[in-house]
This record gives sequence, C-alpha cells and structure tokens, in this order.
Amino acid sequence: MAEGPKRYEGKAKILYGTDDPDVLISYFKDDATAFNAQKRGQILEKGRMNCAIASHLFQLLESQGIPTHWIDTVSDREMRVRAVTIVPLEVVVRNFAAGSLCQQTGLPLGTPLTPPLVEFYYKNDDLGDPLLTRDRIRAMQLATDETVETITQLATAINRHLIEFFQKCHITLVDFKLEFGRDRHQQIVLADEISPDTCRLWDDMETDTQNRILDKDRFRQDLGNVEAAYQEVLNRILAQVAPN
Ligand code: 5GP
Repeated sequence: MAEGPKRYEGKAKILYGTDDPDVLISYFKDDATAFNAQKRGQILEKGRMNCAIASHLFQLLESQGIPTHWIDTVSDREMRVRAVTIVPLEVVVRNFAAGSLCQQTGLPLGTPLTPPLVEFYYKNDDLGDPLLTRDRIRAMQLATDETVETITQLATAINRHLIEFFQKCHITLVDFKLEFGRDRHQQIVLADEISPDTCRLWDDMETDTQNRILDKDRFRQDLGNVEAAYQEVLNRILAQVAPN
C-alpha cells in the first residue's frame, strides 16, 4: 500500500496521509512502551497481531451501530481510517479492579465493579495522563458536557458489546482505554485501537493469576510469553469470527 507523507508518529502507530484529506493510513508498529514510555521494547509481530485484532473489533462495533474511524484493513499492518481530531481524553472503562485503580484505592485485584467505572484521564504525557473529574474537564475546556455525555454513552455501549464478544472467546474483559475523535461532520467516533496493548484480558480457562494474563501487563511486569499471549487473543477472535 503506497502511503503519503507521515502525519504523526505515536508510540505504537504511525499515521500517513493519502490522496483523500479525509482518509489516513494507520500503520501498526512492533514498538511497545509502558509507564509513560519509561519502559521501551519491541514485541515481535505485535503490529500485525494488533492490526488484525483491532480490525475485527472495529468491525464488530460498527456492526452494532458504534461509529468508528475504521474504513478497511489494507495490509497485515495497515488500516485505512477516517481523519479525526482527537479529543484529548483517555477514556478508561473498568469491569474489575486492576492496575492504577488498585494502586490508588487499595481495592483488591479482581474486585467486580458494578456498574462498570468510566473514567477520564488527560491525554498529556508531560503531565503523566492525570485522572480528571467532570469539573476539571469543563475548567480546562477539554470537552463540553454534551461531548462527555456522548462519550460516556458510547464507552458504556462499547463495553457491553466487547464483554459479550470476549465472553464467547473465554476471555474476561477486565478494563480498557479508548480514544475518541471528531470527524469532519463533527460526529464523535471511536479512534485509536482496541488491542491487548489497550485492554486487560484474562484467560477464563486459566486460574493462575499470572498465567491468565493475555495483554500488555505481560510486558509491563516482565512475565514473558508476551507474543504468545497476543497470538492467543487473535486466535480466539478468529475462531469466533471465522469458525472452522
Ligand atoms: P491503568 O489506569 O490501570 O494503568 O489502565 C487501565 C486500562 O487502560 C488498562 O487496560 C491499560 O492497558 C489501559 N491504558 C491506560 N492508559 C493507557 C495508555 O496510555 N496506553 C495504553 N496503551 N493503554 C492504556
């Protein structure tokens, strides 16, 4: 796939322009970072696996009426996406306590969260992506109340669809991070990616608390078998979307 000029390079993806100003190419890299890029490395074939995983999940969500930036997948590491202006919020949905929630609140790992938490963090590496409140979002003029409400509704619906899908894969969706953007019609659409880089996924077939981890926590915590975990997630998704 011939790309136009590089528009933006993030930690895990590169965005290239195309002939159409409304369309970008999102290229998935093998680079992995954690702890606000203080830890860096590579996960072999991660770009290929995450591109495939994210493509399937975007298609699933589109089929359920969730607007996303995904147009189509054009190679094993590239998807065409609609150009959007990213809302500078990281939206985290939590079904079970893990990660920073446990560290900050003392809630035991795996505590069920009913209803799920929808949290907003400021997408700003220099500030370490701090947790926001609705009052702070308003004061910082990061998004209007209406946009926050729209995003909350979308994130909640996305969570419902993903929980149901991952259940069929025998995977528990513990938590995940979403990013949203505004397209040229000002519609809020799901952007970025959904993959083991951005989700916590626990294998329901495995009871051991370390062996069950199928996501970037294996890289963050140096648990080993990172590639195999990502491949397992992809295999289970493929078994659902294309049985046989
Ligand atoms: P936590 O707040 O526990 O660190 O993260 C909650 C969830 O959001 C986890 O699934 C984690 O992977 C995801 N997440 C939060 N911030 C980021 C981020 O900056 N990059 C990525 N890739 N995932 C994030």
